[in-house]
Amino acid sequence: MAVTGPREKGTAPLAASVGVNLRSSAIFNSMTLPRGLARGARGGAPGNFAFEKSISFRQHPLPSVQGILVGRSAAGNIFMKRTHHCNELRPAHVGQKVVLSGWVHSRRDLGGLIFIDVRDREGRTQTVYDPSLLSNELFEQAASLRSECVISIGGTVRQRPEGTVNAKIATGEVEIAVDTLEILNLAEVLPFPVDDPEVSAKVNEELRLEHRYLDLRRPEMARNLKLRSKVATAIRVFMEGEGFLEVETPTLFKSTPEGAREFLVPSRVHPGSFYALPQSPQQFKQILMVAGVERYFQIARCYRDEDLRADRQPEFTQVDIEMSFIDREDIYALIEGLAKTVWKIALNMEIPTPFRRISFEEALNRYGIDKPDTRIGMELCDFTEEFRASSFKVFSGAITNGGVVKAINAKGLAGATQGQIETMTEYAKSFGAKGLAFIKVENGEWKSPIVKFFSEAEKAALTAKLQIVEGDLILFAADQWLNACEILGKIRLYCAEVLKGQGKLIIDDKRFDFLWVVEFPLLSFDKEQNRWYSSHHPFTAPVAEDVGLLTTEPRKVRGQHYDVVVNGVELGGGSIRIHQPKLQKMIFEQVLQIPAEMVKARFGYMLNAFRYGCPPHGGIALGFDRLIAILCGTPSIRDVIAFPKTAKGTDLMTDSPAPVEPKQLRDLHLELKVAKKE
Ligand code: ASP
Repeated sequence: MAVTGPREKGTAPLAASVGVNLRSSAIFNSMTLPRGLARGARGGAPGNFAFEKSISFRQHPLPSVQGILVGRSAAGNIFMKRTHHCNELRPAHVGQKVVLSGWVHSRRDLGGLIFIDVRDREGRTQTVYDPSLLSNELFEQAASLRSECVISIGGTVRQRPEGTVNAKIATGEVEIAVDTLEILNLAEVLPFPVDDPEVSAKVNEELRLEHRYLDLRRPEMARNLKLRSKVATAIRVFMEGEGFLEVETPTLFKSTPEGAREFLVPSRVHPGSFYALPQSPQQFKQILMVAGVERYFQIARCYRDEDLRADRQPEFTQVDIEMSFIDREDIYALIEGLAKTVWKIALNMEIPTPFRRISFEEALNRYGIDKPDTRIGMELCDFTEEFRASSFKVFSGAITNGGVVKAINAKGLAGATQGQIETMTEYAKSFGAKGLAFIKVENGEWKSPIVKFFSEAEKAALTAKLQIVEGDLILFAADQWLNACEILGKIRLYCAEVLKGQGKLIIDDKRFDFLWVVEFPLLSFDKEQNRWYSSHHPFTAPVAEDVGLLTTEPRKVRGQHYDVVVNGVELGGGSIRIHQPKLQKMIFEQVLQIPAEMVKARFGYMLNAFRYGCPPHGGIALGFDRLIAILCGTPSIRDVIAFPKTAKGTDLMTDSPAPVEPKQLRDLHLELKVAKKE
């Protein structure tokens, strides 16, 4: 339904509508195009047609009907092609005839004038419909438009009148006096609005995921997708410059159930056999090193069938990297260079390198976690020596049992509510502690049932080391070292959230604290299974001097792996790998206690490959979704994935996973044992 205003009568026809109520020929004949529009589109100022470089909507050469530029929809109907995107017009364009296409972002009817903000991927522009300058028909059409209808408009760019400039949007100094309107498609009433960031942010996420196509139209989400694409390109350019080859590895892999649970894919051709979706391209990238690729990377999709936590997805993307003839320092330097480039391109920020390094032990000792957020103070203090002979038996008893006493000072949190204290106590209990000891420093008093057991020297030590003053909340953990650290680590983060909520802890959102966490133990002990398992993965090399301890004192063996952490988020991790087949076999069989037959079945091909000249190598993988979430400043990776799954692993838009037909199961040689849902 394209209509023009009275001023353009007699000029050449422009376009017909597509979409609903097609009355092409009649409309075509009733439509006219201002001469200036054709000139504006093709012959106007250079740049009218070439959208901003970073955006690059390259238009195909347009067909011409009676000398006028037109486009053709898939259905073969003719529509006006845009001359600019909706974030492009500035005062310099005033007077030009333009065509914009996009969605009706918002419509306001004010004092006889209609204002419609037309939005496309790049932004929005205000368009004005003045009944004194337009035909009734066009005006009525404009008045009937609902949010998210798809339109093309033609008109003249003009300066907005004094006092009506909108400084919040880039096109806010101008508007378009519309003379041609074409409705390309209608939109029904939306399940939620997309034009108001505050309202949309409150919309139930399930509803947003069910209508993801609408959710992604929100400018906030479009920005995330754009940033993701930009960063992916920056990574590719950087890696190419560093001599890396991007190599794709299979998605249909073999089951190697060592780490997380895998997704299995039944084979039709091999009855009873299965592929597994890779948890990461780890084994292939190591094989690529044996294959002489030397420097590999891939922006790779990985799959883990884990019970989902808030920031996990069953399928996610890694920047996966492997290099030959290198040591740990080479990986640190590469990733620091990559991060520098990415932060510069994404946020125009210079991040200082090299990153600080901290050992696993120090990270736990000081922050109670192996991915410390160093922007928050509140470090853990050790009081084991001070309380060794304490008459407070909860503390001295824990120490006698080989444990430690640690404390943190949550400054300004003495007023913590009963509910907050209970939450923290639950954290402590989840680590097996019996309770949580604490002191509230209020009205010059230490309020706590345990203080009466403390000697003056013990109190003095607490005051000095924790710098206790009025208003503080002191929290203790007395337990085995790792447990004590982890309890306080968790409570520390909780207190930081509470303090942030109260405005007592302010963290600059432009601050990025990067660090390398290094010197992890190679192995951790699984009490339930009574065996050692790899802290990182079984291909990680031990520190050379510790190899002799592998079978005698596995606890003491240090691994050559590293994590890169930013603001308390693990951005990635990797390791130098074992490249000697004998050592790898020994670790599988003797240290990890995997039966020799199973080693052969699962990893035999790798051990074989290593026998034919395997270079020393190592690598890392960065969580790409997390990286983008950090750059976008959003806490949820779902906000940076176009079509994420819910916490229950479902895709609400396509309604998957879903049952399949009995024939499909038969073809796959599968029989189901699940009870049918009513
Ligand atoms: N493949 C490992 C992971 O996904 C990373 C690495 O060691 O390179 O965690």
